[in-house]
Amino acid sequence: MSGSVPGQVNPPSRLLMGPGPITADPRVLRAMSAPLVGQFDPWMTATMTEVMGLYREVFKTANEQTFLVDGTSRAGIEAALVSLIEPGDRVLVPVFGRFGHLLVEIAERCGAEVHTVEAPWGEVVEPEVVEHAVRRVRPKVLAVVQGDTSTTMCQPLADLGEICRAHDVLFYCDATASLGGNVFETDLWGLDVATAGLQKCLAGPSGSSPITISDKAAAVINARKHVEAGIRADDDIDHGARIASNYLDLAQVMDYWGPRRLNHHTEATTMLYGARECARLLVEEGMDGAVARHELHGRAMLEGVRGLGLGVFGDVAHKMHNVVAVEIPESLGAEGGDKARAAMLDDFGIEIGTSFGPLHGKVWRIGTMGFNARKDTVLVTLAALEQVLRGCGVPLTAGGGVGAAREVYAS
Ligand SMILES: *Cc1c(COP(=O)(O)O)cnc(C)c1O
Repeated sequence: MSGSVPGQVNPPSRLLMGPGPITADPRVLRAMSAPLVGQFDPWMTATMTEVMGLYREVFKTANEQTFLVDGTSRAGIEAALVSLIEPGDRVLVPVFGRFGHLLVEIAERCGAEVHTVEAPWGEVVEPEVVEHAVRRVRPKVLAVVQGDTSTTMCQPLADLGEICRAHDVLFYCDATASLGGNVFETDLWGLDVATAGLQKCLAGPSGSSPITISDKAAAVINARKHVEAGIRADDDIDHGARIASNYLDLAQVMDYWGPRRLNHHTEATTMLYGARECARLLVEEGMDGAVARHELHGRAMLEGVRGLGLGVFGDVAHKMHNVVAVEIPESLGAEGGDKARAAMLDDFGIEIGTSFGPLHGKVWRIGTMGFNARKDTVLVTLAALEQVLRGCGVPLTAGGGVGAAREVYAS
């Protein structure tokens, strides 16, 4: 019956220039083809310890509790929130895009009383607004997205850290879209928990979520420890409400990565190899170097888009380095935006992103991140975009995109 078996996986050649996932660095894919080793093999435990050290550098932290949550970025977000939040806790979420709404949704599922402060899409939230809300709500946790790919905005965090310290609030950040491509200072900014993913500026595939946890947050989480190696802990201790997830119970996951190596789940070894290589790439380059690279290529893409005569959405002064929201020319009409995206894919093998919610049909999102934060990818994407739009009858400045980008590189 071999005739009915589908052939080997053989994906088309694509350049992924959307808001993520991006084309993985070949070094990461090579690392992921390395043989498996048992999870309590001394080599493996030493490798896990190495990964913890590498991610301390990526997150710029001295936090002992720095490791990987198995699963995509959302697994890290859920692990953080379900482990910190007890039913009835107040949580404050500044919302300035789609992923702020995700934090609200997850916090609500954890039983939190969720309060929000909102900024219009395309803007960030002013620290005074957050401070005012912190005074009013007195939350246990402030949960905020750093870079929201839905709007391209990058929320300044340093002031929020100060506010959290002054009011004894735990400070959580989803840095999935921004880490590696924009300055991120876990310790300097007073973050208690931060999580990320590999498929944006970290140049890997989705499926592993790096996390870092301050000693203060680790103590809060460990105080809720109920189950250890399957045995219920002492009943006379007030452990608070039991963490409502087994897989994402960070108290258990910390024991698993920690010196006691208590069994929890089977390590996703192949993802660990990939995540290790992502961190090695960044640490070799230096975090400052990686941010500078994303800034340069992001600026070249931004100027290129403008050079074509296209508009850019949002408060550009607060834009993430690694993604730009390009206004779809009105002359393309209602379906024209999708048609142009399809032509980018069909004719050039280049994927650019669509948009959600209030921006649906209004902007494309073009990413320059991770392995694709490069001059050749920027220039090829701009050249292709010009041809596609010209083919759709949009009047553009001939060569204006590539020309403007090359000027950025030349200066
Ligand atoms: C891309 C992105 C995610 C992705 O979550 P996954 O579970 O990996 O799909 C999460 N948060 C933000 C801010 C993102 O930009």
